[in-house]
Amino acid sequence: MLKGKNAVVTGSTSGIGLAIARALAAEGVNVTLNGFGDAAAIEKERAGIESEFGVKAIYSAADLTKGSECAALVKFAEDTLGSVDILVNNAGVQHVSPVEDFPDDKWDLIIALNLSAAFHAIKAAVPGMKARKWGRIINTASAHALVASPFKSAYVSAKHGIAGLTKTVALETATFGITVNAICPGYVWTPLVEKQIPDTAKARGISEQEVKEFLLAEQPTKEFVTVDQVAALAVFLAGDAARSITGSLQQIDGGWVAE
Ligand code: NAD
Repeated sequence: MLKGKNAVVTGSTSGIGLAIARALAAEGVNVTLNGFGDAAAIEKERAGIESEFGVKAIYSAADLTKGSECAALVKFAEDTLGSVDILVNNAGVQHVSPVEDFPDDKWDLIIALNLSAAFHAIKAAVPGMKARKWGRIINTASAHALVASPFKSAYVSAKHGIAGLTKTVALETATFGITVNAICPGYVWTPLVEKQIPDTAKARGISEQEVKEFLLAEQPTKEFVTVDQVAALAVFLAGDAARSITGSLQQIDGGWVAE
């Protein structure tokens, strides 16, 4: 039932977003990739998705810290593919620091990308979804949309914010065939997690190996969540079986927030 739909997946040149884009493409969905990285590697991925799954895959380098580029990304996808039926707001960054040392520019960056970008993209995509009476909005939130951890003031604030945005837009669009949900992963081994290991070691005064053990201590399964598990949940939320799931925060965290 997803075959022929058109998706935008923000931050899909790496990690969770790339896995979601590939999993949607495997269902026959045309995908708009977005994010930063090596141009040749991105082009190889884009062309690879087209040939492997027989769908259209397009790419935009939009910098989603700028509201106008979020709207332009949605317009680019609508103009090129014909519509945006599935919007996955996934792009995100992290910075780890005690609040009194937290750099102002990192705060602004994280709020802009991890929260405001979703607002701008949703605002641009909802009119088309309402007109077609079908839409799926999936926000990659985090376990940090539900619980806090020290030294992540901006990230936790943005992720709690996206939980509120998810619920609000779900209520506004509920009678238009649109669902809006957030996925709340625990720790998933991606470049985003790998990059925070040194700063977390510094903030907590422990070794980098101890940080890995520390992260997994949060997760009762003692395993990192995989990008493919998160992608499978996104595909489920996009499908017909999830028609009545809206305004929800889906935990996929090895039991973290149950503790
Ligand atoms: P990642 O670093 O692998 O990917 C981040 C993506 O965002 C990349 O494609 C990057 O190019 C893109 N990006 C960065 N700045 C951008 C900008 N200004 N404009 C557009 N794109 C930009 O990270 P990931 O772990 O896959 O994270 C993806 C999402 O999952 C984030 O929202 C993150 O908060 C969330 N998340 C991750 C974990 C985890 O443990 N990895 C856990 C919970 C939630």
